[in-house]
Amino acid sequence: MPLNIAIIGSGPAGFYTADALIKACQDCRIDFIERLPTPFGLIRGGVAPDHQTTKRVTQKYEKTAMMEHVHFYGNVEIGRDVSLDELRQMYDAVVLAIGAPNDKKLTIPGADKIGVHGSAAFVGWYNGHPDFRDLEPDLNTTTAVVIGNGNVAVDVARVLLRSPNGMAESDLPDHVSKIIHAAPITDVYMVGRRGPADAKFTNVELREMGHLNMTAPRVKAYQMPEDLGAVLSQYGDRDRRLRTRNIETLKEFAECADEGKPKNVHFDFFASPIKILGGDRVEAIRFERTTVENGKTSGIGEMFDIECGLVISSIGYRSEPIEGAPFDKKNGIIPNDNGRIEPGLYAVGWIKRGPSGVISSNRPDGVIVAEYIAEDITFDSNKSGRDDLEVMLKDRHVRWTGYSDWKKLEDMEVAAAHGSAPRKKFVTVEDMINALDG
Ligand code: NAP
Repeated sequence: MPLNIAIIGSGPAGFYTADALIKACQDCRIDFIERLPTPFGLIRGGVAPDHQTTKRVTQKYEKTAMMEHVHFYGNVEIGRDVSLDELRQMYDAVVLAIGAPNDKKLTIPGADKIGVHGSAAFVGWYNGHPDFRDLEPDLNTTTAVVIGNGNVAVDVARVLLRSPNGMAESDLPDHVSKIIHAAPITDVYMVGRRGPADAKFTNVELREMGHLNMTAPRVKAYQMPEDLGAVLSQYGDRDRRLRTRNIETLKEFAECADEGKPKNVHFDFFASPIKILGGDRVEAIRFERTTVENGKTSGIGEMFDIECGLVISSIGYRSEPIEGAPFDKKNGIIPNDNGRIEPGLYAVGWIKRGPSGVISSNRPDGVIVAEYIAEDITFDSNKSGRDDLEVMLKDRHVRWTGYSDWKKLEDMEVAAAHGSAPRKKFVTVEDMINALDG
């Protein structure tokens, strides 16, 4: 009998695991179980719509998905259509690659006001993720504040500020571009609670903010460190190099001539959010100035407000527990020993180690788990994997999508694209299934 392995989630962590398993094991049958009818997780629903080059990594994933031992079961939700326990009875090994789909909550007073959104929801909305189709944020404001200094914060600020021309080659959905491009937003504040040397955005993403047609980057030169060596002393060599580049870029921004661009992205550091002000809707956000010592932030009692009609909290993501697996609430991950939860059950990607790193950071997770599976599982098991799964799904009237269904959806998306856009995304599960089934 072949070894039957289920990977729950078809984002980068899931695909790198499948890749590693194929290399490690000649006689494996690998099945992706995916909640959405479409594959690729954050590549489709998280990577910014104007970063199409990054999204091209799916061409590599597709080679894996098309291999004969690999099947895709989309539109199948764990807990709704099949439980983790049931999967474990059918498969020799189950790998959880379910990511960190929710926002780390902003817990300051007023965070529930209208006009305050978490970046998971906001990014999902502008990427046409079906879960956030109906978010419809009110962008009728001149000023937005993005809390956080990570790459997601940079993405959000850029997508809010980029001109329709700048977005022409993106797959920004129509219902989103209508709202974003009609918005009177002229100023976006990106506010970090620590200093510029501690910012988590990477340099390529930061530099892109200096190349926007309609938007000028604004940096307070006095916030740049005088003694860079001292503020970077806690970091290792690689981090020191990356952060030095960020400071150089920010200094260039601080010095750049005013080219009369109509919009601004303001970088403000040393400011911790304290309170969202307003009635039902956000009208301003209060910050406290901070000081950073040995990487630790403390408030210095000096408050200031930024008037705004939109706040995007981009302070990180969190995973959700899944029934049938343990969960470490404090760290927001499934407790695991370098990917092994227990023999037969494994974790890769953000559910394993938290929401950090770039796409390729998921590759080693897959390699390690493939090694564990080879160690833990014997080939004499009588589990039959997808044969049992399909019987169960049919019994339960689940309309699953195979990889060929995804290819049909993709063809339809590409055919419906206008101008130089690469595709016009389906943005509801219902529309996807209707398109497939006529
Ligand atoms: P992130 O890199 O962890 O950044 C989160 C930011 O939120 C940090 O600046 C953090 O500040 C701040 N923060 C956290 N809690 C806060 C609070 N209570 N109040 C104020 N600020 C708070 O997370 P992310 O931007 O969501 O990105 C997630 C991962 O995806 C990262 O590894 C990122 O590099 C990756 N990603 C990569 C790309 C790309 O390569 N183009 C694009 C998008 C995302 P502290 O540092 O002080 O904690």
